[in-house]
Parts: sequence; structure tokens; C-alpha cells
Amino acid sequence: MKVHQIYTASFMRNWNYIIELNDSRAIVIDPLSDELINDFLDKNSLTLKTIINTHEHFDHIQGNQALIDQHGCDVWSHKNCVGKVPGLSRILKTGEIINLDLDSQIKVLDTPGHTFAHLSLLLLVKNTQLAIIAGDALFNAGVGNCRNGGDPETLYQTISQQFCVLHDDVIVYPGHEYLENNLKFTLSIEPDNSDASDWLLNLQEQDPTIGSRHITIGDERKINTFMRLDSLTIRSNLDLVDASDKDVFVSLRMRRDSW
Ligand SMILES: [Zn+2]
Repeated sequence: MKVHQIYTASFMRNWNYIIELNDSRAIVIDPLSDELINDFLDKNSLTLKTIINTHEHFDHIQGNQALIDQHGCDVWSHKNCVGKVPGLSRILKTGEIINLDLDSQIKVLDTPGHTFAHLSLLLLVKNTQLAIIAGDALFNAGVGNCRNGGDPETLYQTISQQFCVLHDDVIVYPGHEYLENNLKFTLSIEPDNSDASDWLLNLQEQDPTIGSRHITIGDERKINTFMRLDSLTIRSNLDLVDASDKDVFVSLRMRRDSW
């Protein structure tokens, strides 16, 4: 099993993902454009079997219908995506394990907050956590907004209970490429974060859209303010030194909305 990260160059800077299985079958996550996906499938001699949509927003389902028409593929998503996701043919359940190759699996996580129809996919190889396809729940150095059918307190529960508990070396595959902007937000609220400064400096040498960079949960713990709720600098800058983690998170999300 291999994960391919494909930059769509859309105005919202979406990432698409293709999971390539050992027998040349492919699963595509959140297809934006059928041309882009077909181009990749052709070049790599892959057969598309399944689309998985992390959630119902238009920029995560736009390529569904054309790909269904061309490939007759299945579409898997969250139960609350019924009536919203074109071609939905299988509802994925929380905690469900989907076997891929002999030694690799997807574990389905129900991760509400950005919307209430949002899944994330934890990839396991030999029973070890390899990567998380996080949709618009967790971004590199940020989290999804809650303005289109979401709720910040619910997103706090999701991030703290389902993402913060992952192993440090789990690779994060987000739905959008917002790293540079998010690092600048981190530094706006935590100017003494030297890891964030270093990442920002490195970005000038490596195009973030090339998709070869592996940012892990361990990295996120250092550069993502939404996973650094106990930072005294963050709390002081929000004037929330003694507040609950949830209040710090919600305040950060509000701050990021208007930043
Ligand atoms: Zn979204």
C-alpha cells in the first residue's frame, strides 16, 4: 500500500489522495477533478475501485460524478452525507476496520467539528499507525474552520480526543495546503515558537505543493497552536491564562477566523 498526495492547484489549495494497493487497485480520497485523477491513474496503470469523501463540502466531492460515470466505482462516506454526496453506496462506521492489502488497513474515525458528517482515515500497516487522512479536521499547523455547518467546541473534542492521542510519527495528510499561512498565525500568537520559525524559513527552500514533505503528529505538537493549548505564551496573548483548554481552543478558532 502506498499513499500518493496530489496537489490540485485549486483556489482553495486542495489536496487529493490516492491509496495504491498492491494489486493496482486504487482508492481516491476527496476527488476535486476527474481529469487530474484520471491522469494519475493512467500514468501509474491503476484501476479506480472506490472514492472516499471525508465530508460533504463541494470542494471534496466535485469529482465524484464524472469518476463514477467513467469507472463505475463505489463511494464511501459518513452516514450524515446521505443525500449530500453524489453516488454514496456505503456508509462507513466509527471504528470500522477496512482491509486493504494483506498487512494494511484503514481505521475509520468519526471526526465532527468542521462539519457533522466528517470522517478521518487512520492508515495502519502491520498494526502500526502510519498516517491519518484528516480532511478538514486537522491541517498542518492548523484546524478546519467551523463556519459551514460546524461547531468549535465539537472540533476541540475531536482534536483533543482523537488526534492528540496519535503516535508522534503518524504522518498528517490534510485536505488543504495552508501551511505557510498557518505558521504565520502560530507566530502571531506565539512569537517565541522557534520550531514554527524554522518551518517557515524552510518553506522558502521547498515548495509546499510538491507533496514530498511528511509532517507528523509530533511536528504538529510543536507548530500547531490548536495542539499547544497549555502554552503560557498562547494563553497570555489570549488573556486566558487560567481558562480551560476548550476555551483556549475556541478562542484560537475565533482569532483565526478574523486573522
Ligand atoms: Zn470542508
